[in-house]
Amino acid sequence: MEPDCTPRYLASDNTSGICPEAMEYLLEANRSDDLAYGNDSWTERAADRFRELFDYDCDVFFVFNGTAANSLTLAAMGRSYHSVICHELAHIETDECGGPEFFSNGAKLLTSPGEHGKLTPEGIEALVTKRSDIHYPKPRVISLTQATEVGTLYSLDELRAIRAMADKHDLRLHMDGARFANACAALNVSPAELTWQVGIDALCFSGTKNGMAMGEAILFFNRELSEDFAYRCKQAGQLASKMRFIAAPWLGLLESGAWRTNAEHANAMARYLADGLIGLPGVEAMFPTQANSVFVSLPPAAIAELKARGWTFYTFIGAGGARFVCSWNTTTELLDTLINDMRDALSQA
Ligand SMILES: *Cc1c(COP(=O)(O)O)cnc(C)c1O
Repeated sequence: MEPDCTPRYLASDNTSGICPEAMEYLLEANRSDDLAYGNDSWTERAADRFRELFDYDCDVFFVFNGTAANSLTLAAMGRSYHSVICHELAHIETDECGGPEFFSNGAKLLTSPGEHGKLTPEGIEALVTKRSDIHYPKPRVISLTQATEVGTLYSLDELRAIRAMADKHDLRLHMDGARFANACAALNVSPAELTWQVGIDALCFSGTKNGMAMGEAILFFNRELSEDFAYRCKQAGQLASKMRFIAAPWLGLLESGAWRTNAEHANAMARYLADGLIGLPGVEAMFPTQANSVFVSLPPAAIAELKARGWTFYTFIGAGGARFVCSWNTTTELLDTLINDMRDALSQA
């Protein structure tokens, strides 16, 4: 029998469509006209709802995508001669085409290695104390990703230790929350506990990967950093004139609680997949599965066979490595099909 080569999407959590709660509010927002450029009622309600959810009077902004959110936020957190400390696998380093450097007019990223995709206080301090002369870009910001690029989590204790190091060297703390909801769900903590209560100054919270069509929220807990931020967004082409169509789906996620249940589901699916894959002969876990992605190493022939059967997944993480990402609409049926195909692929490899 010919293998079924229908594309099967597990490459990222942005291959999924729009979740019902986001769609319902999007349609609702389309029922009547409203003011432009964020002066509408949806944007105000969504921003207030973020402040309630985080239990903090933060400044809230909406942009189209994560690269813009990270780049503009980091630009607001330092000056052109500053540097941003991040992990060597950080999205801002590997996947934003120099956006953070561009929008900050030249601030440099300084990268640190670290097990499981995580920065350590020691790694941060090594970069800060390496040089103190005027020829080195002055460290000003730490950027960490929660959940990380390799699907792991910083514990609250790890975050507190990083904050202590930040205080020691007068650094600001940025969180790339492309999978922030997954981290809250997996750690079973509130958004407040995972951000301002451990000293995060600014958070980029992804709606796209949580079930929206597009749109990220930027939350400044340190409101000194958001001065004139609206101008920065406008200049960068990130001020949506119909902002209500980003804000309304966000409100849908927040009011229904889907921001968290979507993440809980995605995390549970990743757990299910990891349990089904790891232990098959030839499959090894590359990183612990703590949020919504599964990283395994596979024989190259098995990777080729899975691709031939239509599975989409990334193999960027080094030779033999494969990343599978689950989302709000991943089903156990899909994952069972993958696990069965994996068994076949391994027996042929
Ligand atoms: C997806 C992602 C982003 C945002 O990417 P865009 O494609 O610009 O929306 C940022 N950080 C991490 C860790 C991501 O996985």
